[in-house]
Amino acid sequence: MPRDPRYDILFEPVKIGPVTAKNRFFQVPHCNGMGHYNPEGHAAMRGVKAEGGWAVVATEEVEIHPTGDVSPYIEGRLWDDKDIPGHALMCEAVHRHGGLAAIELTHNGTSVSNLSSRDVAIGPSHQMTNYWPWQARAMDLQDIRDYRRWHREAALRSKKAGYDVVYVYAAHDLSLALHFLLKRRNQRSDEYGGSFENRIRLFRELIEDAKDAIGDTCAVAVRFGVDEKMGEDGLLHDGESRDVIASLAELPDLWDVNVSPWRHDSAVSRFAEEGHQDFYISFVKQLTTKPVVGVGRYTSPDRMVQLVKKGVLDFIGAARPSIADPFLPKKIEEGRPDDIRECIGCNICVSGDMTMSAIRCTQNPTMGEEWRKGWHPEIIPAKQSSDRILVVGAGPAGLEAARALGQRGYEVHLAEATAELGGRVSRESKLPGLAAWGRVRDYRLTQLDKLTNVEIYRDSRLSAEQIREFGFERVVLATGARWRSDGVGRSHWKPIPGFGAPQVFSPDDIMAGKLPTQGPVVVFDDEHYYMGSVIAERLAMAGLSVTLVTTGDVAASWTAHTLELMPINQQLRKLGIAVVTAHDVTGFDGSAVTLASNYGEAPRTLPAKAVVAVTSRLPEEALYAALQAEPEALRAAGIKTVIRIGDCLAPGFIAHAVYGGHRYARELDAPAQGEVSFKRVVWAPAKP
Ligand code: ADP
Ligand code: SF4
Repeated sequence: MPRDPRYDILFEPVKIGPVTAKNRFFQVPHCNGMGHYNPEGHAAMRGVKAEGGWAVVATEEVEIHPTGDVSPYIEGRLWDDKDIPGHALMCEAVHRHGGLAAIELTHNGTSVSNLSSRDVAIGPSHQMTNYWPWQARAMDLQDIRDYRRWHREAALRSKKAGYDVVYVYAAHDLSLALHFLLKRRNQRSDEYGGSFENRIRLFRELIEDAKDAIGDTCAVAVRFGVDEKMGEDGLLHDGESRDVIASLAELPDLWDVNVSPWRHDSAVSRFAEEGHQDFYISFVKQLTTKPVVGVGRYTSPDRMVQLVKKGVLDFIGAARPSIADPFLPKKIEEGRPDDIRECIGCNICVSGDMTMSAIRCTQNPTMGEEWRKGWHPEIIPAKQSSDRILVVGAGPAGLEAARALGQRGYEVHLAEATAELGGRVSRESKLPGLAAWGRVRDYRLTQLDKLTNVEIYRDSRLSAEQIREFGFERVVLATGARWRSDGVGRSHWKPIPGFGAPQVFSPDDIMAGKLPTQGPVVVFDDEHYYMGSVIAERLAMAGLSVTLVTTGDVAASWTAHTLELMPINQQLRKLGIAVVTAHDVTGFDGSAVTLASNYGEAPRTLPAKAVVAVTSRLPEEALYAALQAEPEALRAAGIKTVIRIGDCLAPGFIAHAVYGGHRYARELDAPAQGEVSFKRVVWAPAKP
């Protein structure tokens, strides 16, 4: 289909200093857990973005020196010439598809660990490092000269590697240039401290140094966080940030602006809508004629057009939308924006970086698998047999399996017990703040609608007998899981005394609209992800008095990996939900729960008329057991395999279910992979 002319403006070329971007789609820097550890994996992932139409494709932050070592986090490295070939791989992959390759150079100053280099951290003044219980030392003038030299040399190495755009980074509280600028971090009394002109000096010098070193052929971009959302102690979009932009306005070739720190920049959809940064960044273009890029989980092409037309942005920046759909620009260009796999704002992608593992995405199961498994987000091998496949259950696992098998050309029959498709995604997206999660279902239903070889049956709860009667060669069970209400989970191997009472609920009850009729209610969170907090929120909104009791040291502790810990905990307090941390629930008698402290305080009771147990789930595997119980009958029915995927194999994240469904579809009739089904980075002895 031809492109909708309304979107033509998004495909105009834009000059960035000495280089030209072919359109307005800009993949801003984002972490990915591969970086210097796996340059081939990194290059393949970035190459797919360029193939998908992003005009500029950037690295994550790239350390320029061992004193700026952020291990154990796996980012890029350009410490010396030995790192150049890894970066050249990425540049080649991006150039192959007509994209510009950008590198985000940084020295993280007081935000480093130096766990690997064992160097001493450096900063504008003596102070604690950001994340570790040791200190950074104040830099003297020679240190500053050295730092400028390292940055200049890294810029030259970037050019040598083939980059077109080189960043000077001053955002997220993660860069020395920014640390010198910040009043709270810089207590110097020399020419680099005190007045605004002194504090911005180093930032300005870095840009000038980079322009001088490589500005003839490379664009020099600046990434600047215009608001830290911490009041007077931090940068404010209507405060000193205006002075920064005004003062450096025409010096860089491009302004990449955002809200910092990272949890505000990559805010989850539960707490921030598409375009949540517009308010903070829209002043920037009034102060510079240079192109401006900004982010805000933009997935709507109409909104993108508006942003350009209203003079807010020149480039539509994206990290997460480009992860969920590397082909977003191509889909708009080819007149099929309804094919966009929209980011749901869950930050599972961020959790890869936080756990030092390769990036993964709830919506895009191929993310991070481009090199490891050779998976492409849009292309999948054609079917290798005429086997017909019955998929039972239309949650995220079943929907993705049916979609990908359908894309391969197989005849697929998808049966769902209920009238509503989407399984847990449909249920959970009705909880407070989680509406965007419904996109996991919506994308797949849009695609399934286009596949004539996939038949969907609603209101079709299948029995083993019916499955045998169908006699399709392959049976895939994606029947999901149910929450337990007996308290068994992380802390309890046996049911908690009293949890058999009718006043004990599970998250499934709450999602089905079966709420306690009176409080106080105790939500017992022994799982530690989002569910406990969102159930507590749901109950509080229904007017019930709620206490969240968790065995974790903080409510929703795992959400530290998805950058939600702070907003979730703030939200609980805002809604008047009491929080008791580091306590186990050991019993319930209908009027109170008994609590046991993790740290040996005396047991106590807490009034409770009802309890919601957020502890663990059990797979819905009865159908599997029934089919397996009669192997002869299966053979007689012509059924070759019965496979479980998603939550009915082992309850996990939505991302696990989507991946499980996709993996099944990819591996059907594919050559056997052996025990290790993906490429990995292994040490090999040098050839003699
Ligand atoms: P997953 O996350 O693994 O995709 P979900 O719990 O989201 O799992 O979805 C499982 C889906 O399977 C639900 O929509 C449920 O109604 C459906 N289901 C469960 N048992 C059957 C069955 N016997 N026949 C058809 N559908 C079923
Ligand atoms: Fe978006 Fe979630 Fe994918 Fe990240 S993991 S890109 S937030 S859908």
